[in-house]
Amino acid sequence: MNFFNKSIEYLKGVGTLRADILKRELGIFTYHQLLQHYPFRYVDKTKFHLIKDIKDESEYVQIKGVLRTINSIGEGRKRRLSGVFRDQSGSLELTWFKGLHWVQKLAVGKEYIVYGKPTFFNQRKSIVHPEISLVKPEQKDKAPTLSPVYHSTEKLKAKGLDSKGISTIMKNLFLKIHPSRSTIEESLPLYLRQQLHLIDRYSALLAIHFPHNKQQQQQAAQRIKFEEFFFMQLRMLRSKQQKRIGIRGYIFKVIGEHFNRFYHNNLKFELTGAQKRVLKEIRADMATGHQMNRLLQGDVGSGKTIVAFMSLLIALDNGFQTALMAPTEILAQQHLSSILEMADGLDLNIQLLTGTVKGKKRKSLLEDLAAGNIDILIGTHALIEDPVVFKNLGMVVVDEQHRFGVVQRAKMWRKSKLNPPHILVMTATPIPRTLAMTAYGDLDVSVIDEMPPGRKPITTYHKFESQRLWTFGQMKREIAKGHQVYIVYPLIEESEYEGLSEVKDLMEGFVAIEREFPKPKYQISVVHGRQKPEDKKMEMDRFARGETQILMATTVIEVGVNVPNASIMVIENAERFGLAQLHQLRGRVGRGGGDAYCILMTGFKLSSDGRFRMQTMTETTDGFKISEADLKLRGPGNIEGTQQSGVLNFKLANIVQDGAMLRQARTIAQQILAKDPQLNLAEHQVLSKYLKLTQKTHGFGLIS
Ligand code: ADP
Ligand code: MG
Repeated sequence: MNFFNKSIEYLKGVGTLRADILKRELGIFTYHQLLQHYPFRYVDKTKFHLIKDIKDESEYVQIKGVLRTINSIGEGRKRRLSGVFRDQSGSLELTWFKGLHWVQKLAVGKEYIVYGKPTFFNQRKSIVHPEISLVKPEQKDKAPTLSPVYHSTEKLKAKGLDSKGISTIMKNLFLKIHPSRSTIEESLPLYLRQQLHLIDRYSALLAIHFPHNKQQQQQAAQRIKFEEFFFMQLRMLRSKQQKRIGIRGYIFKVIGEHFNRFYHNNLKFELTGAQKRVLKEIRADMATGHQMNRLLQGDVGSGKTIVAFMSLLIALDNGFQTALMAPTEILAQQHLSSILEMADGLDLNIQLLTGTVKGKKRKSLLEDLAAGNIDILIGTHALIEDPVVFKNLGMVVVDEQHRFGVVQRAKMWRKSKLNPPHILVMTATPIPRTLAMTAYGDLDVSVIDEMPPGRKPITTYHKFESQRLWTFGQMKREIAKGHQVYIVYPLIEESEYEGLSEVKDLMEGFVAIEREFPKPKYQISVVHGRQKPEDKKMEMDRFARGETQILMATTVIEVGVNVPNASIMVIENAERFGLAQLHQLRGRVGRGGGDAYCILMTGFKLSSDGRFRMQTMTETTDGFKISEADLKLRGPGNIEGTQQSGVLNFKLANIVQDGAMLRQARTIAQQILAKDPQLNLAEHQVLSKYLKLTQKTHGFGLIS
């Protein structure tokens, strides 16, 4: 058996019991996994703090001093041990609630090194559960080094596997490796290491766990991070390559009657450069004989829908049926009406299928679909249900992809008989480039990075509750000019009222707004999640037709609404929204080409995150900048659509901090695969070998 797949229980200092806990607590089963349990921090043992210099609670400290007293306080479960620890500058308290048996063995009067995070209580400095070790005679003079700090848990600590204990078994592991360096094989070709000045794998692993100094630790981290990014990219790009080879796609050669008629008769404006470029990319994809899997990114209002529609026309001109899938009923309806408008005079059968289409109507629609009489089917999740059968589905557009899971997309694939349909996934949530490279690395990405002409940036204000009158004033001014206003309330998930509480917020808001904007001068639409779809639609339609000037809603309007006459977006309790959502909402105004405003209303008390979000929103309207800020704020794991992808589980690398390296790793992986697609060259044998070795631990596949 391979050395690295050996079970950790055979390692000196581990054994069955500890192995069991390591498995359960940290998911460490094998030598390899233990090796990859990297320190998350290092303590500079060259430095000792003086107790008098400890000023705040933010940093870990290391102190050398003498234990003066140790006392037991309290009884039973409340019992704790408290000691006084003194160095030449002062004293502090050490406290233990657990492991008392062991702590009692500490000797009063002896010299110890204490390490931990200080806390202040009643002006008194203390450290709870410090790491403490005797200053041994030989250690007194020996030059200390950086020492690793490992993540551990209470259960592990109870069995002696605190950070130090883990470091000890790590040493034991390296004792097994050391005699023959070949147990840790190199995974990168020599030419690549030379080109990038990366140290070898063995040295990197040794130095990440036991660095002699900062520089060595950084070189090790550099090497390991690159390896993580590089193999992830290599694996992803290869799987994409293999899909291209293995899966055939329909070939759409013809640019036919529908497309041309639309282009010449219905298209009322010049496409932007970005739209033309993306359309070309899509056309090229659909002509290759490979199946298209393309992500279309573009800010709200950048004109994705037309590009998507024109792609559908190409599929139709080649004799295929098409589908457009949207995340909500309202959005599906919006797509229906805008597509009906765009398709005017094209003689196409366009139908809507959602959960509310039932009975006879549904039955006959499904029959028509199976007979091939429907050209474009627009709908919600209902489209992927089993009874929905197409005669020949050639292309699918999925809107707002982050709401659809991988499984749902895979189901759509199977709706086509011979080959899978071409798939275009549209998202209005700009994804930072680094994130797109990882989470969507196996999709091709097109970006519409240019707004249609005439758009003005939306002026954004952040106002407190106390400035509400100002906000009302802005609303009245715009309404007087004949414009319309959105007021959005946050949706409170997991509320104990089961969705009632946001309706309550909305209704309370309604009372206030109605008082300020009385009938008959002003008309108000109200839309929320607990209404029947028909009622929702009616209210939205009234607003869309301009019969009401104010639309008050919970986030149901988050995606899709297009009322060009609306010029103000007021967001209530704006601090409860994430940046991506705020950006989406703001994009609902300013579609008519005139001045547009977004007013973010918050309470006076804001968390630092909340303040940062408001500030970002008032400073920029660039969706990519906002998504970068969001990524910094929340970390990659929390950006919508990436949670399940499983490609973000790097041990050391961080796509936010190491973005430049990620780009480099991707470029290099692309170059290598372009030159040597099968990794057959002698110098690339190390790559294939490492890919095979690590295959099982990297299960991923976004579209499969
Ligand atoms: P998205 O789906 O990206 O949010 P849409 O496709 O809905 O954006 O387009 C927003 C608005 O801009 C629509 O009213 C659309 O007709 C208009 N539009 C799209 N492309 C252009 C263009 N090139 N020039 C002018 N207006 C455009
Ligand atoms: Mg849209």
